[in-house]
Amino acid sequence: MKISELGEFAFIRRLASRFSQDLPKDIQGIGDDCAIIPYLDHTSLLITTDLLIENVHFIRSKISAQDLGYKSIAVNLSDIAAMGGCPLYTLISIGLPSDIDVEWIDHFFDGMEELAKQENVLLLGGDTTFASEIAINFVIIGKIETSLIKKRSQAKAGDIICCTNNLGDSGAGLKIILEDLPLTDIAKQLIQKHNRPFPAIHEGQWLASQNGVHAMIDVSDGIDSDIRHIMEQSHCGAVIDLDRLPLSADLDQIAKLYNWNAAEIAATAGEDYCLLVTIDPIEYEKINSLYNQTFKKPLFKIGQITDQANKLSYLKDSFPVQLQNRGFDHFKK
Ligand code: ADP
Ligand code: MG
Repeated sequence: MKISELGEFAFIRRLASRFSQDLPKDIQGIGDDCAIIPYLDHTSLLITTDLLIENVHFIRSKISAQDLGYKSIAVNLSDIAAMGGCPLYTLISIGLPSDIDVEWIDHFFDGMEELAKQENVLLLGGDTTFASEIAINFVIIGKIETSLIKKRSQAKAGDIICCTNNLGDSGAGLKIILEDLPLTDIAKQLIQKHNRPFPAIHEGQWLASQNGVHAMIDVSDGIDSDIRHIMEQSHCGAVIDLDRLPLSADLDQIAKLYNWNAAEIAATAGEDYCLLVTIDPIEYEKINSLYNQTFKKPLFKIGQITDQANKLSYLKDSFPVQLQNRGFDHFKK
């Protein structure tokens, strides 16, 4: 069987069934945004790694070296944010073709350093190798008070599903890049959202401190995929109301111009790197109002967790609908 038939997520399940059996009970391996290892004084270490490959995750001529450096560490930090943790240390392994200018590499590190400094993340090491195309891999180590960790497995039937920011801008930016569309001001803003995502580290830590927040994940593959990860780990279902997905004015405008289905892009395109959380319905109003005071933006209510395991439904104008696309999977196209 080819891996394209299996798909990325079945491949990961296959790995987990082989390697997760013998882990000590208090260590959590494959299955969440980070691995969790108990550390000192009721704290745990969080460890995550992500790989970015030229012509798979980015096109060299379509992103500045500085933005690529920023994005590469941002997408990794986002997985620490997704557990509610505080990032501390990083290692970077990098594969480079011989014809890369040293100035390009300096600019890459400028972008990476900007975000690392801002979030007090220290670079401790890595590895360097020749490669026929650019390959970038970060490992991030963070920590969190163990009782505050928010896992994909903690959703409960009846929870309100919320996201912390607009959805679909990054996906629209990618469409503009891939379809070589005119670079209007709006187009440039959307490309910027795709090239420089901001990891929701502070939002994640705040949400982790709230008992009423149950499951949490970052939106990397699109909410269609990411809510399925929560459903699988929490043995539940979900209903998402497409009319409630928060869309930016930029996405709205460009979708009208090109006749795109903005809600579909928002649900499936991914790389928004905001957080998707499930919240106890009794606590939602209180948590949303405190969150609003702190971050000057709401927790956007987009759906509800159900007790129907693995059943994901979408509503449009209050009627059930099917999406044309699915969230992102590296092997299933
Ligand atoms: P994310 O999008 O949050 O980075 P992924 O979908 O990449 O998460 O991974 C989901 C889970 O599978 C994580 O726990 C990750 O560590 C694990 N995983 C993914 N690929 C591999 C692999 N090649 N070997 C071991 N574990 C993996
Ligand atoms: Mg993640």
